[in-house]
Amino acid sequence: MSSVWIFVGAVGFGAVLGFTACSRRPADDADHTRFRPPTELHTVSLTDGGIAIDPQPRAVTADEATGSEYMCSSCYKAFSQAHIHVIPWFNDSLSDYVTTFRCDDDWLSSLDETRAHFLASVEHPEDRARFVAFFARHQLSGLDASDAAALRSDGLALLDKIRAKQIVLSP
Ligand SMILES: [Zn+2]
Repeated sequence: MSSVWIFVGAVGFGAVLGFTACSRRPADDADHTRFRPPTELHTVSLTDGGIAIDPQPRAVTADEATGSEYMCSSCYKAFSQAHIHVIPWFNDSLSDYVTTFRCDDDWLSSLDETRAHFLASVEHPEDRARFVAFFARHQLSGLDASDAAALRSDGLALLDKIRAKQIVLSP
């Protein structure tokens, strides 16, 4: 069975790989109750000059979709879809919330870090805008970045739903 490595968020290789190695067609429906594998991939290869990413996306084949492995960006081990969780996580070097893969052992503690960052920064308008933009990228709209108190309440409720797996983010 072929195996496809899918990287999301800033892993060890920097932002370029993280943001270009997989993508989703914007026309996707917004089903937030189950994990949907990415529909397109950019081929990533290791060369003498470092990591090369094919700028042309290609559709993921059925074989690749079933054999995909996802890398936890905390422990750097690969896991099947059943053992991977997609969460928002604040990346300090990018100063943004990024779509991040975590394994069964790491996702709850990472989600706690996201929550702590959100609570510590929700008074800052630019941080509220980044939080709202993250969820907009996942087709979750309705958050209001202009109202700190409302966003604090709505944002915490959203993070709680992710923790309770009532909302399942996809890459
Ligand atoms: Zn892990």
